[in-house]
Amino acid sequence: MTTPTPATSGHHQDPPGGRTPQQWREKLTPQEYHVLREAGTEAPWSGEYVSTTSPGVYECRGCGAPLFSSSTKFESHCGWPSFFTPLAGDAVVQIEDRSLGTVRTEVRCAACDGHLGHVFSGEGYSTPTDLRYCINSVSLRLAPLEDNAP
Ligand SMILES: [Zn+2]
Repeated sequence: MTTPTPATSGHHQDPPGGRTPQQWREKLTPQEYHVLREAGTEAPWSGEYVSTTSPGVYECRGCGAPLFSSSTKFESHCGWPSFFTPLAGDAVVQIEDRSLGTVRTEVRCAACDGHLGHVFSGEGYSTPTDLRYCINSVSLRLAPLEDNAP
């Protein structure tokens, strides 16, 4: 066994989330691995949750941490599931991303460091926050809300 050495560089080279890249590859499908562990992006309108409106909690597909509620999902017409706030402020971490020559804010799962998508602000959507968490479907798994009596 090798012991990961904590690195403070901006690159995701150190094994995060308690798994080595090989272990993530065994756990995830190739597309899940590409998005979650290599910060890939699924094609717009291709994801299984783009237009989903059923109630439930969207969990991290990498580690199962609850990330977003269906009640904060809104129709953004951008081709990816969009939320105006995470389930809890500390459920995700936000990292400055200059990879495309512009400054965007990357959103990652706080628990396993998996890439989720990006967050955009000030776009004029009529949501309480004016934020759009633009998240890959493949990073999420919807846990349907059980029909519990109130
Ligand atoms: Zn996670």
